Amino acid sequence: MSSILVLVHPQPDGSLSRHSLEVLALAKSLGGGDVVVGAVGGAPAIPFEGRVLVVEGEAFTQPRYSTDAAAAQAICEAVKPDVVLAPSTSRWTRCLAGVAQRVGGRIDTHVTALDESLQAMRWYYRQRIEAVLTRTQRPWFLIIESGSSKSVAPVAGTPAAVVKIAVSVSPRTEVSGMVSPQGGGQTIKPEAELLFVAGAGWTKKQKDGRVRAAEAAGLILGFIDRAGASLGSSKSLVDLSGEGVSVLPFLSHLNQVGQTGSTPRHPKGLATCCHGEEPHVVGWRFINERRAVNLDPSCGWARGKADVLYVADAFEVVAKLNELLSR
Ligand SMILES: Cc1cc2nc3c(=O)[nH]c(=O)nc-3n(C[C@H](O)[C@H](O)[C@H](O)COP(=O)(O)OP(=O)(O)OC[C@H]3O[C@@H](n4cnc5c(N)ncnc54)[C@H](O)[C@@H]3O)c2cc1C
Repeated sequence: MSSILVLVHPQPDGSLSRHSLEVLALAKSLGGGDVVVGAVGGAPAIPFEGRVLVVEGEAFTQPRYSTDAAAAQAICEAVKPDVVLAPSTSRWTRCLAGVAQRVGGRIDTHVTALDESLQAMRWYYRQRIEAVLTRTQRPWFLIIESGSSKSVAPVAGTPAAVVKIAVSVSPRTEVSGMVSPQGGGQTIKPEAELLFVAGAGWTKKQKDGRVRAAEAAGLILGFIDRAGASLGSSKSLVDLSGEGVSVLPFLSHLNQVGQTGSTPRHPKGLATCCHGEEPHVVGWRFINERRAVNLDPSCGWARGKADVLYVADAFEVVAKLNELLSR
């Protein structure tokens, strides 16, 4: 029987992200092991029958390697777990390799599944090779991708009693604030139900002979806001933005989906003005239901890559969607 530590960063109100709740549900599903929650930054306001260890204080609310690593190390030393699970947030991904080293453990990242016999699954070579691996070294740290557990831990009920751990730090790095790329709002939302992909067609001459980039920007941002969708892009479109061409200023390479971009996980995806070439669509591996809007009935999506292809003008479709969503 293994003891399992789940590391989380609660929100200021004590709630946990869906991703953290998935990892907690995954830990519980492993069966029989003693599950302990380690929270950094504040106490989690979730019902939980096991032990909850908390490192709190102003210094630990900020995302910073030195304080996140010191807190995680202190929790690991108090719990002495066999297995440590954490959601693949930027904070945990940044510091846990160092923590594994400090406590004599091993770490694997990008884990997409873990079963009761502690066999972990992950993809290699841009999601082309799927591997199942296990390790004898303990503690074994596993950073879990979102969507790896279909269930989430319950959020309602009496919050768990917590044990506070004192950790003394004197950080040299000051977190002065957050800056979103190119002045836009947050367009990448890993927990969104829908991935909306914009392709280079939005910036091409349209049937009236004009390039309608400003209108495209308004339609896309309007849809993202109203639908709460995450915004992805084809490589062609972000490359145009990167060259300083004034197209869609809120896009950066972080939005790029595909072979040389990201492989996001969302239940649904809608591609617009995007041709659906293989290097792009390979990034849709974990999108369950795929739809596309393209003027070209022979585009890549029509060749078995989308569940539904709407042969239509995306300007008209998205304007209509925005109108319906505004009601
Ligand atoms: C090694 C390598 C790695 C690559 N990695 C990636 C990657 O990670 N991600 C990626 O995306 N690409 C990648 N590519 C590039 C990829 O092959 C394609 O070139 C790219 O995805 C094309 O982008 P697009 O579909 O937006 O643009 P285009 O091919 O220009 O397609 C635009 C589409 O918009 C449609 N359209 C235009 N106007 C409208 C309208 N009003 N309504 C509806 N539809 C309209 C057109 O019919 C057309 O199909 C890679 C290529 C290579 C060689």
